[in-house]
Amino acid sequence: MRKTKLPSGVAIPVLGQGTWYMGDEPRRRADEIASLRLGLDLGMTLIDTAEMYGDGASEKLVGAAIAGRRDEVFLVSKVLPSNATRSGTIAACERSLKRLGTDRIDLYLLHWRGRTPFAETIAAFEALQDAGKIRHWGVSNMDVDDMQEIARASGGAAMATNQVLYNLTRRGIEYDLLPQAQARGLPVMAYSPIEQGRLAEYPEIEEIADRHGVTPAQIALAWVLRQQGVIAIPKAATPRHVQENRAALDLQLTPQDLADLDDVFPPPSGPESLEMI
Ligand code: NAP
Repeated sequence: MRKTKLPSGVAIPVLGQGTWYMGDEPRRRADEIASLRLGLDLGMTLIDTAEMYGDGASEKLVGAAIAGRRDEVFLVSKVLPSNATRSGTIAACERSLKRLGTDRIDLYLLHWRGRTPFAETIAAFEALQDAGKIRHWGVSNMDVDDMQEIARASGGAAMATNQVLYNLTRRGIEYDLLPQAQARGLPVMAYSPIEQGRLAEYPEIEEIADRHGVTPAQIALAWVLRQQGVIAIPKAATPRHVQENRAALDLQLTPQDLADLDDVFPPPSGPESLEMI
């Protein structure tokens, strides 16, 4: 498994596993747990969840999936902005730890910007680090201006990542946010890398996929993973999708593939506001 480094020097896999909507439907539970465990077997040991997903149902499912295998996992969860005060963040983290069945979260993110000043949430993250309850902290859905503000806030230099929407149909970050993060050595975590499954449906991508004998979803994922410092966290709830996603990491897109994709999904020509799902 290819890895990238957090600013702290800790190496993490560039391909992880998302879990939004997992744990919502009891009849899918066995498949979801089997998929996450297969992903661990294949080296996709970064698992992303959030207190928001299913109102804690995703964290509970992740807890069941990693039971007995905690030390293999780089566990990411997120605090809601409505909980992101100093005491609220600490209480939210403790609830998440309970649902996850663990004593620590490896990377704890502020899910998006709310009303609490960044410095206050950062102070809570620092207290959680001191207590050994989280190892690193980061943010999600932060645009260029937010990132500058966080970097200037007290303790802000320790931010470990920004998790943002990035895929072939959402290329805005290539103009500024991504190069700025790369220049700072800050990995960007790409969420919805298959555009919630919609990128599996494009005939133009299918043509490229046919050249390689793979699926359009694999092309979409290989495209996100083509760059240094970018981590992708596709969500896959079937073992076949997990296998395919792991294989996408080994796929080499040719200059012709990249040019053809640029024709259909042009790169940004100027600054664009960060999109969110
Ligand atoms: P995604 O990973 O782009 O797409 C997931 C969908 O694609 C599912 O329907 C899945 O089907 C399907 N899929 C997965 N692998 C496939 C394959 N090889 N071939 C065809 N279809 C495939 O979308 P996402 O779940 O929105 O994003 C990924 C993760 O990012 C989330 O789960 C969550 O952890 C995180 N996220 C974070 C934020 C944020 O605000 N920070 C926002 C959105 C998402 P099956 O489930 O049936 O396998």
